[in-house]
Amino acid sequence: MTESVPPAPIDGYRTPRATCLLAPNPSPMTLDGTNTWLIAEPGSDSVVVVDPGPEGDEHLRRVHAEAIKGDRRVAKILLTHGHSDHSAGAARLAELTGAPVQAADPAHRLGAEGLADGDVVTAAGCELRVLAAPGHSADSVCLLLSADSVLFTGDTVLGRGTTVIGTDGNLGDYLRTLGQLRDLTEARGIGLLLPGHGPMLTDPLGTLDYYLAHREERLDQVRAALAAGAKTPPEIVAMIYTDVDRSLWPAAEWSVRAQLDYLADRGA
Ligand SMILES: [Zn+2]
Repeated sequence: MTESVPPAPIDGYRTPRATCLLAPNPSPMTLDGTNTWLIAEPGSDSVVVVDPGPEGDEHLRRVHAEAIKGDRRVAKILLTHGHSDHSAGAARLAELTGAPVQAADPAHRLGAEGLADGDVVTAAGCELRVLAAPGHSADSVCLLLSADSVLFTGDTVLGRGTTVIGTDGNLGDYLRTLGQLRDLTEARGIGLLLPGHGPMLTDPLGTLDYYLAHREERLDQVRAALAAGAKTPPEIVAMIYTDVDRSLWPAAEWSVRAQLDYLADRGA
């Protein structure tokens, strides 16, 4: 592989057991759109769907058609977290397929089963290990598919740029999660991160180190902005997010609030 190789297209991206179907909901927050993942052992008579995506029949019908190709049935629908660009289509897909919806947050489940840290979801001939990944949101999980040495990261790690700490997230949790994902990546030899938005990440350790360094850098900038007299989150954003498109400043404000909470918790 050389550096001149263009990134692989997102829609239709495949590993031996996973296929990406890109939802048509691009935006500054969702990048190219939401990545819906179909996972199955080759030859299996069933398939697992991760993150059906937003509401919208066109994408859900396409996911359904792709999932049941070759007489397969949908065994389970899993959610990396409850944000609507990942979860809003789940109920409709469950209706189309009869499959249960498993999520960390009981409010997003359809059926008895959840997704808790350490659970192993066995379906479609595959084993998916669940890792609690709070931070971006309180209910975020990552899913490890060891057979392909890949990790589905939801919004915890994105294919481009960095993620936002949501109104339901927490920066201290997020930093711990990134550290745990880094340890796991080393221990399990994970070769690829498959995010909820944006292209696939072929350098997992480099990406996680970048994420950790980026958070430290932003924290230093927030400390500096406070020292320079900034008082409110919008003032801090205007001072330190000059490199970020203005359409993302409202989201940056959540991140700044998360950073202020984090610094206050640590008495810094
Ligand atoms: Zn999200």
